[in-house]
Amino acid sequence: MKNFMYEAQATRVIFGAGVRKEVHAELKKIGVKRALVISSPGQKELAMKISRLLGDLCADIHANAVQHVPMETVEKSVELVRELNIDSLVPVGGGSSIGLAKAIALNTSLPIVAIPTTYAGSEMTPIWGITENGLKKTGKDFVVKPKSVIYDPELTVKLPARVSVTSGLNAMAHCVEGLYAENTNPIISLLAEEGIRTLHSSLPSILVDQNDIEARSKALYGCWLAGTVLGSVGIAIHHKLCHVLGGSYNLPHAETHSVILPYALWYNAAYAPDAVQAIARSLGTDKDAVAETLFDLSTSLGAPTSLAEIGMKETDLDQAAELATKNAYYNPRPIDQKTIRRLLDYAFIGKRPIGCFSF
Ligand code: NAD
Repeated sequence: MKNFMYEAQATRVIFGAGVRKEVHAELKKIGVKRALVISSPGQKELAMKISRLLGDLCADIHANAVQHVPMETVEKSVELVRELNIDSLVPVGGGSSIGLAKAIALNTSLPIVAIPTTYAGSEMTPIWGITENGLKKTGKDFVVKPKSVIYDPELTVKLPARVSVTSGLNAMAHCVEGLYAENTNPIISLLAEEGIRTLHSSLPSILVDQNDIEARSKALYGCWLAGTVLGSVGIAIHHKLCHVLGGSYNLPHAETHSVILPYALWYNAAYAPDAVQAIARSLGTDKDAVAETLFDLSTSLGAPTSLAEIGMKETDLDQAAELATKNAYYNPRPIDQKTIRRLLDYAFIGKRPIGCFSF
């Protein structure tokens, strides 16, 4: 067994159908009195629901969160927080709401109680991101990690099936990369394997019946595990490619993860045998077929499988390969621009990843 370091990160997790009602007690426990409920404009109704549960502990609702956390929104939000004498943040919704709460916390050190309703996993990580002048800057600071996370699957039933599927594949990508991360460890590998297994079994059921609360619970549980993996160990070429494609070409976050995941795994498979064994076990497939199994899963779930279909321009692929190989993250297989350019070619057309990845 390899030597390893494992650091447990404290967060209270309250999980289950109906547990949103505990949000009031949760804020009382932290000892705060003036919460700001944060959501994206489309989830204002959800924010109002949470505000009613908070009663006198809710100072205001801020339904201004947008994708990629623009600096202007952060500055205006921090001003509002100071004006209203806010002492805590309650983001509800996806990674965009949680991302805005994290950016405010970075500037104010206010505690966060998060209520996630997608499977992106940001609520379990100390990672923040802010976009300024077209560039997304990210960093790690434990001040932005939520003190408590309330996972209520009943709040996810309105998440459209297609968004649920791509968001679930986004979570699966955190697990896959966690298994071959440079600093992975046996505890995180257990969580990652279970995360893939749970998402793999629940996403097809959500597609059949978006109100299936058992499937919604399993997917949310898988997302919690995936977020824990992402927050605990490093990331590799999959996340680097998604950061470049989302940040520089404005491709949609979860869909980009869905498209890239089978190719990143295809690329790395021969260099990460233990990870591949774990992924094969969790997907119930052969170790030589993990990439194609993930590709087929995406296809069967109706998720996008090519960069072309989510808005990438073929003329931008050269530059994307260059950006993805600049300041490269650790990756089990060495990275070079020519090979990554080939990977992007395959991902652009949606080639089924069978056999060994060859250049
Ligand atoms: P998102 O927050 O934009 O949500 C996706 C869509 O789902 C939106 O249209 C939203 O309105 C809708 N939605 C959310 N909850 C809903 C509900 N209950 N019912 C119906 N619709 C609902 O996107 P996301 O995929 O959740 O998160 C992506 C963002 O999170 C990106 O900016 C990404 O960089 C960031 N992220 C950060 C981390 C981190 O650790 N810092 C991790 C993962 C993702």
